[in-house]
Amino acid sequence: MGEQRIEAALQEATDTQKVKIGAGAIDAVPEIFRKDFGESPAIVVADGNTFEVAGREVQRRFEGAGNTTIEPYVFPAEPPLYAEYANIEKLRDSLREHDAIPVAVGSGTLNDIVKRSAHECERPYMCVGTAASMDGYTAFGASIEKDGLKQTLSCPAPRAVVADLEVLEGAPGNMTASGYADLLGKVTSGADWLIADALGVEKIDTSGWALVQDHLREWTGRPAELRAGDREATGHLIEGLIMSGLGMQSYQSSRTASGAEHQFSHLWEMEGLGKDADLPLSHGFKVGVGSVAIAALYERVLERDLGDLDIAALRESWPTREEMERSVRAQHTSPDLEEGAVEQTLAKYISADELVQRLRLLGEVWPQLRGKVRAQLMPAARIKEMLQAAGCPTGPGEIGLGWEDFAATYARAQTIRKRYTVLDLALEAGILEECVDEMFAPEGFWDRMFLREGDE
Ligand SMILES: [Zn+2]
Repeated sequence: MGEQRIEAALQEATDTQKVKIGAGAIDAVPEIFRKDFGESPAIVVADGNTFEVAGREVQRRFEGAGNTTIEPYVFPAEPPLYAEYANIEKLRDSLREHDAIPVAVGSGTLNDIVKRSAHECERPYMCVGTAASMDGYTAFGASIEKDGLKQTLSCPAPRAVVADLEVLEGAPGNMTASGYADLLGKVTSGADWLIADALGVEKIDTSGWALVQDHLREWTGRPAELRAGDREATGHLIEGLIMSGLGMQSYQSSRTASGAEHQFSHLWEMEGLGKDADLPLSHGFKVGVGSVAIAALYERVLERDLGDLDIAALRESWPTREEMERSVRAQHTSPDLEEGAVEQTLAKYISADELVQRLRLLGEVWPQLRGKVRAQLMPAARIKEMLQAAGCPTGPGEIGLGWEDFAATYARAQTIRKRYTVLDLALEAGILEECVDEMFAPEGFWDRMFLREGDE
């Protein structure tokens, strides 16, 4: 496996010093803890489910190895733990009563809660993952709902991460599938970075790029085996997810791991899509559907010669700042989302003159850029197949979204983040609307994939 890759990645990382992946890796927790934190006492933090899955075992290992521990902090199993600030306050206040180092035993939400709580107590922490469900284990920052808005609160990544393959294999299948979709999303996010780089918007950082992209095909190549519980495929997935987190850590931004497919996911997340379902819709599942959607958009964009645009006409119809703000406001119905979107859109707004410069540059770089982006991408239909093989949803119906709202997501997602993606390129080149129309037309991508049979 990629032990050397991880070791090399840790050289670039700012917070994480040790990653251990393997069957039975949980045995190494007390020793890793001692190396990093000396004789400090440890406190296992879990929820009712993850405590049963691995927390109790971690506690037992600590006791067996003679580490000092404090009684575990266990959130209730029901209702499912939610990443909201109130939970951070609860844990933080409890941590302040002692000086033990938290050992988070859980997956995305629990890890994020411990990450931020430990930071508010000015303490490092360690993480024992229980599912290969997302790439946040080794990422800086925690995704938390605070004041009614989902936001990334800053806080360092864990000092050490342990991922026991026997534990990960036992995780619910939908969690592993979610992690797979989050990782496969790096195909389109990489393409977005290539575009931003070529247009001088955000230069590619070669080490941050390499950590995520160099082995992506290998990590994501066997979705059916992954679904069947194959150990090697699970190992590849968790390695990819941990490397992706380390990429964000080294570049100090999620650009390495998140593009337009994540903007689809964030938009749906902020609108509460699937939040109240019995099994809340995961981050990865939203990213997966977003990836198919963005890969399909790329196919429409790449078919065109963007070196031959009518720049004068595009300059003429480019909105002023005020018009742009009005158009963003008209697209959103939730007031918080509307304000956030206006701020993000105006942060990346360019004037008509700047548009001319950008489109001229696009004309120069297009032949080369088109080749690079094609080499980075996979056909949308292939991405859909791979996601399906891994057990992920791939279209709007499966995530409870109507076709009209889904089609509108293309334009709306462009407004919610200042990060430059293919959505911005298509908007600036004046082709976003027509590309979307083509995808949803009879015989267009979405029609072919889902044979809509007259619904809507
Ligand atoms: Zn993600």
